[in-house]
Amino acid sequence: MQTQMLIGGKWLDGSDSNRIEVFNPANGEVIAEVAAGTPADATAAVDAADLAQRSWAATAPRVRSEVLRNCWQTLLDHTDELAGLITAEHGKPTADAKGEIAYAAEFFRWNAEEAVRIDGVIKPAPSGAHKILIHHPPVGVVVMVTPWNFPAAMITRKVAPALAAGNACIIKPPKETPLTALRVAELLEEAGVPAGLVNVVPTHSSGSWFEAATEHRATRMVSFTGSTEVGRILLKRCADRVLKTGMELGGNAPFIVFNDADMDLAVEGAMTAKMRHSAEVCTAANRMFVEAGVADEFTERLAAAMGAMKVGPGNEEGVTCGPMINAAAIESIDGLVQGALAAGATAAVGGARIDGPGFFYAPTVLGDVTMESPIAKEEIFGPVAPVIKFSDTDTVIDWANDTELGLASYVFSGDVARAMSVGERIHAGMVGINRGAMSDPAAPFGGMKQSGLGREGAHEGIFEFCETQYIAANW
Ligand code: NAD
Repeated sequence: MQTQMLIGGKWLDGSDSNRIEVFNPANGEVIAEVAAGTPADATAAVDAADLAQRSWAATAPRVRSEVLRNCWQTLLDHTDELAGLITAEHGKPTADAKGEIAYAAEFFRWNAEEAVRIDGVIKPAPSGAHKILIHHPPVGVVVMVTPWNFPAAMITRKVAPALAAGNACIIKPPKETPLTALRVAELLEEAGVPAGLVNVVPTHSSGSWFEAATEHRATRMVSFTGSTEVGRILLKRCADRVLKTGMELGGNAPFIVFNDADMDLAVEGAMTAKMRHSAEVCTAANRMFVEAGVADEFTERLAAAMGAMKVGPGNEEGVTCGPMINAAAIESIDGLVQGALAAGATAAVGGARIDGPGFFYAPTVLGDVTMESPIAKEEIFGPVAPVIKFSDTDTVIDWANDTELGLASYVFSGDVARAMSVGERIHAGMVGINRGAMSDPAAPFGGMKQSGLGREGAHEGIFEFCETQYIAANW
């Protein structure tokens, strides 16, 4: 297990002697103590990234591409080990952790293919006076700050396109899940990523770490995934240096089921959209809007499926819902559930925390929830599905859009034309039609409104890590 920090290809203890304790959320026990960095370490990491980036930017795209492809293979070859680390520090069931590694690794294969396709343009100026040449050099050094819910994938989704485009990065992993981040970085170096291109500096002091990293003159971009609240703070800080930003922020996804939906598909889709990765997912279905004619049947069937889940430590056979990340998460989830129950909701299944050790919450389905309830407004980030009845399409679209967040959304209907037109009217960056999962490295992931800025993945994802330069040429 790697517990030191990585700066300029060297594994170091970090300047903060107070190491970071990493907990297993299934039992609350400390599983490792990780080196902690100070603002000075962040500065040193940007120095190292700056130096490494100059020669990487001048490396042939084909060579960069082949290194990235090796990274894909190397991560896949270590699936069991990495999944074990994820389950140990995050808690998600082993099958979900393995799924995360497949997804995380795929960003390297996809971007290996994109590295050689950062196409430019040449065109005549309309006046005929000159030629317009447009190309896309790398931005330079990118500071990356990532969340704990996908300890590997939220890092690779940024690192792969950044490296493909010729950048270097320094990563601040969350203090809850630094072990996966450190081991991924180690494997990337084993796969051929030159020293200094990927630096990982965990810290106790995120704020001053971030200040130091972003005030360094070599830093040109910040790529953040996390809550909207923290995203707003970082955006303000980035404004001081007019840094380019990529922001993948919180969600409050509507999951709309019409009377004519295939009920098997809708319940299966709801389970996927709500429960994979123990429900701690930014695209998780947060509000179940179900048309009146099928609301009772849907609630009953979803409650049966949720009630049949096996809750427990993620590494135990047959477990389908692991622990939440910490005690504060349990408090927040339970506060929303008790608030909804007090306001008249009914628990079709669950509705309470499960005694420790560990941080477990019973998979819960709430019926008779209203739009006024706080649970319909907040990101739940836990295994709770509030069902809200609707009887009119325009109203449900208004409700779906009645949030400042617009990341994911889901529509289930037997009439695909209707589902498509409803999907087009929802202000969310991603719409699943008769599907509960949609993340794909080949598709643009990201949100509208306060769910974020920019997109990760797809052909456009790599351009987030590029500048645009125009050259006016005569010949
Ligand atoms: P968080 O915002 O609390 O923390 C994210 C990261 O920011 C962590 O590394 C944290 O240490 C760091 N951070 C916190 N304060 C900081 C500061 N002042 N300066 C610098 N860094 C700081 O989020 P979280 O609890 O780790 O993750 C859950 C949130 O992330 C949810 O809101 C979820 O929707 C969102 N998320 C979004 C996506 C997406 O792609 N849109 C993906 C995963 C998670």
